[in-house]
Amino acid sequence: MAEILIYIESNENNVLDTTYDLITGVKEMAKNSTVSGVIVLHPDFILSDEIKNNLKKYGLDKLYILKSDKPFFQKNEEPFLISDLIKNINPEIFILTSSTTGREIAPIIASILDTGLTADCTKIEIENIDNKLKLISTRPTFGGKLMASIICKKYPQMATVRAGTFKKEEINNKQIEILEFNFPHILNLKSEIIEYKKDKKDEFVNLQNAKMVFAGGLGLKNKENFEKLKLLCKKTGAIMGATRKAVDKGFVDKKYQIGQTGSTTTPEIYVAFGISGAIHHIMGMENSKKIIAINSDKNAPIFKYSDIGLVADASEIIDELLKSLN
Ligand SMILES: Cc1cc2nc3c(=O)[nH]c(=O)nc-3n(C[C@H](O)[C@H](O)[C@H](O)COP(=O)(O)OP(=O)(O)OC[C@H]3O[C@@H](n4cnc5c(N)ncnc54)[C@H](O)[C@@H]3O)c2cc1C
Repeated sequence: MAEILIYIESNENNVLDTTYDLITGVKEMAKNSTVSGVIVLHPDFILSDEIKNNLKKYGLDKLYILKSDKPFFQKNEEPFLISDLIKNINPEIFILTSSTTGREIAPIIASILDTGLTADCTKIEIENIDNKLKLISTRPTFGGKLMASIICKKYPQMATVRAGTFKKEEINNKQIEILEFNFPHILNLKSEIIEYKKDKKDEFVNLQNAKMVFAGGLGLKNKENFEKLKLLCKKTGAIMGATRKAVDKGFVDKKYQIGQTGSTTTPEIYVAFGISGAIHHIMGMENSKKIIAINSDKNAPIFKYSDIGLVADASEIIDELLKSLN
């Protein structure tokens, strides 16, 4: 049976919801194929029965676990390990989410395997022609003015898919086959980890699973206003996001960036504070359910994408909201 491989992305001790979304989407399209996943386990990750059950429940037929008892650099070793697995199992299609990790490792894997990759797809279709699977990957091009549907003539056919393209759903999947491999550190890397300590201050910014996001742009003007936005997020349970310009100015860390070269987020509510609405940013948040924009320029492009628009000073609105919460 033809096999489709999915990259199982995890953080701390969880598989990301965006991965479950992708599994369901792919299984719905390719009911007669084996939908497999590959997870590279970090030494401190516990793959619980609950996670295995969720993977099965949302449509995974088979799971390849690549395991090590030595710490390793994710971006250095994962692409090589996954490429080795792919060379052995020969899936016809390999799909990842277009998260920061997916975007980093997918091109390396495509290059190792000498195949093609369509990045940042907003739609994928899988056709079965004479028992061969054909992946049709669609993504915006020319700054979002055109949609291009792309096929790859080499194997595996690879794509990264944006968050929000699919939604996880329980599928009547009876069983999941689990295959576990311990990988030796055979790679001739120029670096080696001697000790592995988690940085307690470096909290993970879970934009991908956020229910509410408050994002700031250059219109917030300075670091202090971003601190206020952070406080507002803390008080309301929102996750903070930012534009690349705000990151480049040093107002916030890069891990908060939303957009083409940052995270993708699909919350119930997305509020843009002082964000112009450049296509590179829109690509990371356009699938949010309700978009609210606050901008001092009534002609700002962000208003075209918004359900509610407010022409106002963004930092004054943050002050007012904080006051009302005190
Ligand atoms: C290859 C490439 C990849 C990129 N990737 C990303 C990405 O991943 N994410 C991303 O965000 N960008 C990305 N960019 C950059 C993107 O094109 C824009 O430059 C950026 O998103 C603009 O950020 P901004 O809205 O904060 O700033 P600006 O475009 O400068 O907009 C600031 C806005 O603030 C408003 N404003 C000013 N003062 C106030 C006030 N007091 N109150 C309220 N509003 C106010 C202004 O009217 C304006 O609309 C990328 C660019 C390239 C070329």
